[in-house]
Amino acid sequence: LSGKLQEAVNKLRGKGRVSEKDVKEMMREIKLALLEADVNFKVVKDFIGKVSERSVGQDVLESLTPGQQIIKIVHEELIELLGRESSKVTFSPKSPTVFMMVGLQGSGKTTTSGKLASLLRKQNAKKPLLVACDVYRPAAIKQLEVVGGQLNIPVFNMGDKVNPVEIAKAAIEHARLKLYDLVIIDTAGRLHIDEELMNELVGIKKAVMPQEILLVIDAMTGQDAVNVSQSFDEKLGVDGIILTKLDGDTRGGAALSVKAVTGKPIKFAGMGEKLSDLEPFFPDRMASRILGMGDVLSLIEKAQDAFDEKKALELEKKMRTMQFTFEDFLDQMQQIKKMGPLTQILGMLPGVNTKALEGAGLDEKKMGRVEAIIKSMTRQERNDPAIINGSRRKRIAFGSGTTIQEVNKLLKEFEEMKKLMKAMGDMSKFGKKGKGRF
Ligand code: GDP
Ligand code: MG
Repeated sequence: LSGKLQEAVNKLRGKGRVSEKDVKEMMREIKLALLEADVNFKVVKDFIGKVSERSVGQDVLESLTPGQQIIKIVHEELIELLGRESSKVTFSPKSPTVFMMVGLQGSGKTTTSGKLASLLRKQNAKKPLLVACDVYRPAAIKQLEVVGGQLNIPVFNMGDKVNPVEIAKAAIEHARLKLYDLVIIDTAGRLHIDEELMNELVGIKKAVMPQEILLVIDAMTGQDAVNVSQSFDEKLGVDGIILTKLDGDTRGGAALSVKAVTGKPIKFAGMGEKLSDLEPFFPDRMASRILGMGDVLSLIEKAQDAFDEKKALELEKKMRTMQFTFEDFLDQMQQIKKMGPLTQILGMLPGVNTKALEGAGLDEKKMGRVEAIIKSMTRQERNDPAIINGSRRKRIAFGSGTTIQEVNKLLKEFEEMKKLMKAMGDMSKFGKKGKGRF
C-alpha cells in the first residue's frame, strides 16, 4: 500500500497550484492503492468520497501548498477511519477484572495474553493471572506456561481433560480467593470460523461475564480479517481488537477495514515476537505508516502551525526587492525555533541521519549567538545595517556577550545572504518551494 500511495502523493508534492482534475487523478490513484491493499470496497468508496469533497475546497486549491494540504486531508481522514483516538481497556469496579482473548488459530492469542498481562501490570493491574483454556492444540498449555514463566506471571491450568468452560469458572474462583486483580483467559482458535468453537466461547462468556472480549487479529490476513471480525462480533460481541504482527511487511488494509466495518476500536498493536512488543494502538501513527512517509506529516503540521502563509508572501516580496532586514531575519529565526530543535526537525525527514547532522555544523548554539547579536541591535540598526559603524559594533558585541569578530562576520554573511536571496528571488518559483528557508 505504502509505495502506491506514496507515488500518488509525490506527484502533488511541490506542485504550485492544482486543478480539480489533478485532485481527481490523485483520488483515483489512492483508490486503486487501497483496493490493491485489500481494503474493503465499501470502505474505500466512503473514504475517497470524504477526501475528494474536502480536497476541492477553495482553501485547498488556493493555498500555497495544495499538495501538502491534500496529504494532510488524506492523513486526517485515515485517522478518522482508524478510530481517531487510541482507546484503552476498561477495568471492572469489582476485582478481578476479566479479559477474554479470542481469535483464529495462530493469530497471536497466547503470546498476546502474556504481553497484555505484562503491559497492564505496569499500569493498573498489580496481580495478573493467565488462564489456559485452549485444551485442543497440542502443547498449548505448555506454551502459555512458558510465556507466564518468562514474565513471572502465574498460569492457571487444569490440564487438557477438563471442559474449558469449567476451567474458566474455576480460574475466576481461584482469582477471587487469591486476590488476583486481573484475569486474562487464553482460548482456543481454529483455522476458520467454526460453530462448535463459537458455542464453546459463548459458554465461557456466559460463565465468567468478562469485562472485555478482545479479538486478536493477524494484520497480515488482509481482507479476510474483515469477515473474521464480523463473525466473532456477531456471535460473541467483541469489545476491542488487538492487531498483531504489525512489525512485518503487513498491508495496512486489515487495520483500515476492520475498524471501519465492525466499528470496534483497535486497542493494542503487536509489534514483534518479544513479550515486550505490545503497544497501545495509535491511529495517527498507523495513518502515517500507511502513507509511508515516516514523520513527514507531523513535520508538515509543525511547519503549518509555525509559518503564517501571509507572512511568507510578504517575506518573499521583501527578499526579491532586497528589503530584507535583520528584523525579518530575527522573525524567521523565531518561526523556525517554534518548530523545535533543528536537528529534530530534519531528523523527521525520511532518510536523514541525525547523527550526521550533528557533525555538519547545524549548530543550535550558533543560532543562539546570532539571535543574541541581532537582539542587541537597535531597531534602526536592524532595518539599516549600513549604519553599524565601529563603535556600534563594539556596543553590540558587548551587549550580546559575543566578540566584535562575530558581529563583523554576521554582518558580512547577512549582506551575502541578501545577495543570494535576490538571485533566488529572481528565479520566479522562489517563495513557493523555498518557503520557510532563509
Ligand atoms: P494463537 O494460536 O492465537 O495462540 O497464536 P500464538 O500466540 O501461538 O502466536 C502464533 C505465532 O505468531 C507465534 O509464533 C508468535 O510468536 C507470533 N506472533 C504473535 N504476535 C506477534 C507479533 O506481534 N509479531 C510477530 N512478528 N509475531 C507474532
Ligand atoms: Mg494459543
